[in-house]
Amino acid sequence: MTLFSRSHTETGTSVTSTVMAMTTSASVTTESEGAISDGTVTDRLVEANERYAAEFTDPGMDARPVLHVAVVACMDARIDLHKALGLQLGDCHTIRNAGGVVTDDVIRSLTISQRKLGTRSIVLIHHTGCGLEAITEDFRTELEMEVGQRPAWAVEAFRDVDQDVRQSMQRVRTSPFLLHTDDVRGFVFDVRTGLLREIDPA
Ligand SMILES: [Zn+2]
Repeated sequence: MTLFSRSHTETGTSVTSTVMAMTTSASVTTESEGAISDGTVTDRLVEANERYAAEFTDPGMDARPVLHVAVVACMDARIDLHKALGLQLGDCHTIRNAGGVVTDDVIRSLTISQRKLGTRSIVLIHHTGCGLEAITEDFRTELEMEVGQRPAWAVEAFRDVDQDVRQSMQRVRTSPFLLHTDDVRGFVFDVRTGLLREIDPA
């Protein structure tokens, strides 16, 4: 059994069913499922990618986001940015980190996004129940005690999520590197309702 036919067992696409009709048997599916459950999580992702690629068609788009927007959001696993904002493939840049805070590296990405890839609008998204509300800057000291080196980066912990969104908006608006800072809006995503709440920048 080739990898090609095995990896397409679960896709059910017309292309693969032609292949499978010639080569497959019931035991193939069992073998494939066994491989997923026995492997590491990365193995699972790679298997899922094989199924994704089997149904993928080249959208033929270039790298410039269709909606000319960059979204900066927390990395929280409960936020499905594309679904939550009705975004399609190719619509936007998504820049994510712990907290969705505007760090120098986020400014780096936004600068490239605007100056090289044509985005104009920026959406900032923090959320309820963020892990950064549960830690403090003492985390840097804890790290230093443990590993003997103080991290150069700030933890960017916060207590008031609304205020942190305002600070993030301010950092974006005052950046000298960005071309467009007239359409910058900030929100808090409620992980229990899925709703965005806009934060007044004032
Ligand atoms: Zn978070």
